[in-house]
Amino acid sequence: MEVVRKLERGELSFSRLEEELGNANLAAVARRLFLEKTLRVNLSSIASTILDFEELYGRNIENPIGAVQIPLGVAGPLRVNGDYARGDFYIPLATTEGALVAGVNRGCKAVTLSGGARVKVLRDGMARAPLLWTPSVEEAARLVEWVKGNLDGVREAAESTTRHGRLVDVQVFQVGNLVWLRFVYSTGDAMGMNMATIASEAACDYIARNYPGEARCVALSGNMCVDKKPSCLNKLLGRGKYVVAEAVIRRDVAESVLKARPEDIHYVNVAKNLLGSAAAGSLSFNAHYANIIAAIFIATGQDVAQVVESSMGYTWTELRGGDLYVSVTLPSLEVGTVGGGTWLPTQREALAMLGVAGGGDPPGVNALKFAEIVAAAVLAGELNLLAALAAGHLARAHKALGRGGVKG
Ligand code: NAP
Repeated sequence: MEVVRKLERGELSFSRLEEELGNANLAAVARRLFLEKTLRVNLSSIASTILDFEELYGRNIENPIGAVQIPLGVAGPLRVNGDYARGDFYIPLATTEGALVAGVNRGCKAVTLSGGARVKVLRDGMARAPLLWTPSVEEAARLVEWVKGNLDGVREAAESTTRHGRLVDVQVFQVGNLVWLRFVYSTGDAMGMNMATIASEAACDYIARNYPGEARCVALSGNMCVDKKPSCLNKLLGRGKYVVAEAVIRRDVAESVLKARPEDIHYVNVAKNLLGSAAAGSLSFNAHYANIIAAIFIATGQDVAQVVESSMGYTWTELRGGDLYVSVTLPSLEVGTVGGGTWLPTQREALAMLGVAGGGDPPGVNALKFAEIVAAAVLAGELNLLAALAAGHLARAHKALGRGGVKG
């Protein structure tokens, strides 16, 4: 192939191949051939994919060479009694961690036999926080007052960029002469990060055109958003969906399904998730939300880097008579059913398993339903791990299910 020779001679770069060949699938083949020759590796597994890069190029990937495959398991049924998700659901989990799906599955059984998980989305809003420079503390305060007094104009500018995005709040922070405007949007069924960023740029342009004083946008993202970083701010103010899921696990179910007594599960939660996390200076007070969140995010085309803040949260337990009350609180769960990777064929099928593929009617209900299901699955996974620890079964499960002969 002439283009491969051009790549070898340095006459062509990876990023020019689509233009040169006029086809993104051919460009992927050329990159692969070049890499196979140059690196002396076989990429036939990476080459094997159902993805059509003609559709993905310019939306989801640059310099494509193929795809990686991740095993997909299912846990359930899981009974969810949410405001949007009502019924029994089968949870798609994409992971390579042995024992994870089995563990969530066992948690689903315990939750479902106990009547299901009650779930509520308490807040909903995607945030983007541009950082503005002003010359002085006084000018910064003037800017803040001006923005508060001109919210209608700021809102109109932001919302002119989107059909579904609505500016619902502007949270203001000032440090010295610098100002952060944390714009919060409702974003329909989209997770909303592109939507919020594009709208916030328009809001900043409006401020730059109309503010009579001196202010300059330093960065469209000023890190008070807070995207893909752990933070107390997201935990307090929320980002994406602020979701709570709870269940009362009957003693007989705890003992027969989870092989642990409610009081032992409760003690492990207090000592590990609360005291242990506090002693470690952790920002998060749970056992393994990230496991369940990551596996669902990969399965359903979410932005996997947002596992960072989406998996922050608190597990709370109480003894109720002889039974176990358990809740999980996820203040910053960032999920969508349109946009990003949600439209890719396997990811869309996984969303369809939950009845939430694509836009909802009215817009937003699919993402809310999805958030409730994710929180219920987190509850199931968390309950299972706490019980496994209480019963002393953790290492045993991983030996049995995660060590089927180490390969490689
Ligand atoms: P998006 O695909 O950029 O935008 C969603 C699109 O879907 C919009 O064009 C929206 O139209 C349309 N839409 C159709 N039906 C909708 C419905 N029912 N509800 C909501 N929107 C609907 O997705 P996004 O969620 O805003 O952004 C996600 C992407 O951003 C991911 O790929 C993620 O990796 C990436 N990301 C970006 C940044 C950044 O800084 N830009 C940061 C982190 C992640 P309207 O806008 O006209 O309503």
